[in-house]
Amino acid sequence: MFDKILIANRGEIALRVIRACREMGIASVAVHSTADADAMHVRMADESVCIGPAPSSASYLSMPAIISACEITGAQAIHPGYGFLSENAGFVQMLEDHGITFIGPRAEHIRIMGDKITAKDTMKALGVPCVPGSEGGVDDVNAAKSVAAEIGYPVIIKATAGGGGRGMKVAADEKGIEVAFRTARAEAKAAFGNPDVYIEKYLQRPRHIEIQVFGDGKGRAVHLGERDCSLQRRHQKVLEEAPGPAITPEQRAEIGAICADAVGKIAYAGAGTIEFLFEDGEFYFIEMNTRLQVEHPVTEAIFDVDLVRQQILVAAGEEMEFRQEDLSIRGHAIEVRINAEKVPGFTPCPGRISQYHAPGGLGVRIDSALYQGYSIPPYYDSLIGKLIVHGRDRREALARLDRALGELIVDGVDTTVPLFRALLAEPDIRNGNYSIHWLERWLEKKFH
Ligand code: ADP
Repeated sequence: MFDKILIANRGEIALRVIRACREMGIASVAVHSTADADAMHVRMADESVCIGPAPSSASYLSMPAIISACEITGAQAIHPGYGFLSENAGFVQMLEDHGITFIGPRAEHIRIMGDKITAKDTMKALGVPCVPGSEGGVDDVNAAKSVAAEIGYPVIIKATAGGGGRGMKVAADEKGIEVAFRTARAEAKAAFGNPDVYIEKYLQRPRHIEIQVFGDGKGRAVHLGERDCSLQRRHQKVLEEAPGPAITPEQRAEIGAICADAVGKIAYAGAGTIEFLFEDGEFYFIEMNTRLQVEHPVTEAIFDVDLVRQQILVAAGEEMEFRQEDLSIRGHAIEVRINAEKVPGFTPCPGRISQYHAPGGLGVRIDSALYQGYSIPPYYDSLIGKLIVHGRDRREALARLDRALGELIVDGVDTTVPLFRALLAEPDIRNGNYSIHWLERWLEKKFH
């Protein structure tokens, strides 16, 4: 086992990893930008190293600075958290060359899944059901038109290098496809440096259902059920729950087995998430994330597992501590993402936290790097905390969420907390009756 792990991240996820390290008796090293000198992850880690100025391109994304920090402190492994360098195959390769262990999958798997066309081809070959669409990429408007005519409108044009909900354009009919195709390519080139796009049928009212998988890197793999992440704004998740209110135990067992089998066959190592759209009882693969997800705590709650601990064990060459038959669901969990943003525009709202009080009590977990007096810097993601509740069933989880949101105090900046309180009053949310388009329609009705 490692003696010391460096966490190449900040905020709540850095804290999450530090906590797992401490419980495992492993020393932790925080890295930080000059803007984060007073951040909670720096205070909580055993050691810290400043790796550069505020912009993440010069700090949290600086591979040489992070590798130097490892060498200075003697850290043997790096946990990347999510975002930043977590899905960067070049980084993983570089660590290997320096004899530092990456806590995550092999570079090869990150590379395959990071290119969505290759990911889809790979998953299809492994027996995973995919959204109907082009075979591989589409290079010109005429090819786009003929694929669209075959699968039927509306269609969605997606960047193969896309991520974070960007690089997607919907075309309602043949008239719209030319503009959609050209803008999607131009935006993909500008945002990701790669103009390649592919086409999929645009599903009208699907749910976003993702399957948590975990592999030992030697061919054994399990699934830990699904998360329903359909409540989204601009293709970005806002609230997640597990189990999915629309998924039956039979559907879970079937898609879960397909996913575990697929990642087992490629000898995938560590945590991964296979994302699907789900409509009329059918699952359609959209992408795989080769890292720990923001929403992993809802899975931890219902399966009573520590996914970060398992990631560390597998990276150190040890066995994961569960087999499929050990994994059973207990109750229901919901996570809400608390962002420093002003609703309804969702404009980032950095600033000083004048008062902070975290909720507590039975079935309540807060993953947050906030503290009273902390100044949220303007340079990074606006996620400032996650509130996760766990109950015996969905009703109890909802009541607990409402209760916990009522106890939470975050003063000094605007947050998304009022949004969640309003959502909890909605019958569709209470009944679990929502698709990926529900939230945007609701926001439109409520605020325009
Ligand atoms: P990203 O990597 O940018 O997150 P994804 O492929 O995971 O992109 O898609 C993000 C979201 O975009 C999905 O959760 C869904 O809301 C929407 N989306 C993607 N593909 C389709 C599709 N074929 N039909 C309808 N919505 C889609």
